[in-house]
Amino acid sequence: LNIELVNIFKLVKDTLQLFSHEIEKKGLNVRIEIDEELSLYCDKLKLKHIITNLIQNAIRYNLENGEIKIKVQNDKKNEWVFVISDTGIGISDKDKERIFERFYRVDKSHSKTVGGTGLGLAVVKESVDALSGRIKVKSQINKGTTFYVILPRFKAR
Ligand code: ATP
Ligand code: MG
Repeated sequence: LNIELVNIFKLVKDTLQLFSHEIEKKGLNVRIEIDEELSLYCDKLKLKHIITNLIQNAIRYNLENGEIKIKVQNDKKNEWVFVISDTGIGISDKDKERIFERFYRVDKSHSKTVGGTGLGLAVVKESVDALSGRIKVKSQINKGTTFYVILPRFKAR
């Protein structure tokens, strides 16, 4: 790991910038609830990779004029919790168990129209593991999906 001080607000802003075209085209409303001053020690590349993939999914599997919310909070154990939620198509309980598998895509015939290889979340899971974190998903069909990435506090080295 390459631990450095990372400004989270800037990291999220820069990531959203990469997708500004898609966000605009779909008319998505993105809300960031992160203190502009929030900086924490982490592996910046790994964190960027995780956030990029989750945001890409939140855009891709959202509906026209949908919403995306991104926030970072502390849990009781003083870990960092990154929360990325969307108002998209949702994921069934049965599929939830499999989305972190390589090449798994929900209803391939349907998702054919929204290209992708099914690798994103598998690699996200690897990055989260490398950071000794956990990833959880809550979702309701046709309501939306929320991903929680829980990371321990790293110290400066
Ligand atoms: P890739 O990320 O490799 O371009 P992908 O998006 O299909 O392709 P994953 O990111 O691994 O692959 O996601 C796996 C599957 O989980 C997706 O194909 C989709 O069916 C489902 N999925 C992932 N994120 C969401 C979400 N936010 N809302 C609804 N379904 C989702
Ligand atoms: Mg993806």
